[in-house]
Formats: sequence, C-alpha cells, structure tokens
Amino acid sequence: MVKTEREHRLDIVEVGKLVYQKGWVAANDGNITIRLDGERILATPTGVSKGMMHPDDLIIMDNEGRKLEGRKEGTSEILMHLTVYKMRPDVRSVVHAHPPVATGFAATGRSLSQALLPEVIIGLGCVPLAGYGLPGTSALTEPMLPLIPKYDAILMANHGAVCYGEDVWKAFFRMETVEHFARINLVAELLGGPNVLPREEVNKLLDSRTRYGVKSRSGGEPGCPVAAEDTGATAGSDGKERFWVTREELIALVDEALRARK
Ligand SMILES: [Zn+2]
Repeated sequence: MVKTEREHRLDIVEVGKLVYQKGWVAANDGNITIRLDGERILATPTGVSKGMMHPDDLIIMDNEGRKLEGRKEGTSEILMHLTVYKMRPDVRSVVHAHPPVATGFAATGRSLSQALLPEVIIGLGCVPLAGYGLPGTSALTEPMLPLIPKYDAILMANHGAVCYGEDVWKAFFRMETVEHFARINLVAELLGGPNVLPREEVNKLLDSRTRYGVKSRSGGEPGCPVAAEDTGATAGSDGKERFWVTREELIALVDEALRARK
C-alpha cells in the first residue's frame, strides 16, 4: 500500500517523538527524512525538537537539498541523507540521531562489530565506524562513502549514528537495534568482557537469513562481524604474542602510525 504524503508526515512526527522520548537526541539534534519519489525528499527542519514537531513543520527538498516547500529552514545534515539516497536506490528513509551508548562507542573510536548477538548478526551483520568529519560539510560524508553501499547502520565518530531502510519504521528499528546492542556490549564489558561467537556459529546465523527473509547487505566479509577467531591473541612458536586484524583495521593502524610521525 502506497502511503500519502500526509501519512509520511505523520510517520516522521511519530518517529521523532520516539527518538526524543528514548533520549537519542537532545534539544534540536537529529533528523529524519523520507524519499517521497524520484525528485522529492520530506525532511525534518532545523531548529526544532524532534519530539515536538507538527506535520506542517516538515519541509520538502529536491535531491540537491534545495527547499521546494515549507516555512521552516532545512538542516545542514541533509547532505548525509542525500548521499545515502544517491548511493542506495533501495533506501526510502534515513534516520540520524545521537543515541548515547552507541555514540559513546563512536566517541571512543570503536565500532559495534563483534559477533555477540544472533539478532544483530542476522539483521545488520555489524555496525562499522566512519571516521570523523565536520557536520554540515562533505567531510562528514566522505568517510561514510565506502560503508554506505555495504551497511544499513553506521556509527559516526565523535558524533552519532545513521540508519536507513525501505521505510521510516525500518530505519527507526535499526537505530533501536544499534543502541540496544551498544548497551548490551557495554554491560558485557563491565562484567568482564563479552564472549565473542566463533566463526562457525556466525556463518550459521548468516545462512539463516534466507529462512527469516532478511535482506541485509553486510555480513560475511572479513571483519563483519568480528568472530572469536579474529580477536584471539595467540602465541607463535617463537613465544611472541600475535594478534589478528582485518585488512581494514590494518590499514587504519598504518594510517594512524603515519599520521603520528608527521
Ligand atoms: Zn548529528
């Protein structure tokens, strides 16, 4: 059933309330958009609490972020939404928020990539971390470009998270899964560190996706999710400790080392 523009407006207002009530945003943070058709995007305006919006507060923009309709002003973070829509024709809605636990991971340079929970492995594969970029500029979206085609939820370093999907509720529920997973991951660390699932179990979960009818892009590639075998530090025959890193992690380490020498 195709929804009317009015129904989409009501959906955004409803999701905005939930995002606010759940404490995923403070003051006027966050933004929610829905792709109405090939040319128009319905978006939350800037300077408004996402928990207290009226359907008529929303604005309509074109694919370049120019305002077509609405009294209020657009958000500078719309660039990120537009980038997702450009790269993912399957995506009809984007939700961006600053959920505190997931953002805590993002602020400490950590992704949510460990294989800990079946639902997360099946639904998202893993949640990678995009490097920091100045909000409202292309620097924000640049580190996300390699991740957008492969993942449906991304942490943004020192900022927050972005999730997207076929409709606004799918995008919202992905954000809920990300924050819930971050909380469980944090508690597992407080209790002495999580037991990461072995590769064999991860593969079984990824295989079960067809049974559950889950269409997920990520999962299965090295490091997404990180299985027990990928994390274990083991001693070699020379007695020296060795650890395993993914290709991406290795590149990030080399980059970091080079930057430190400058
Ligand atoms: Zn933000």
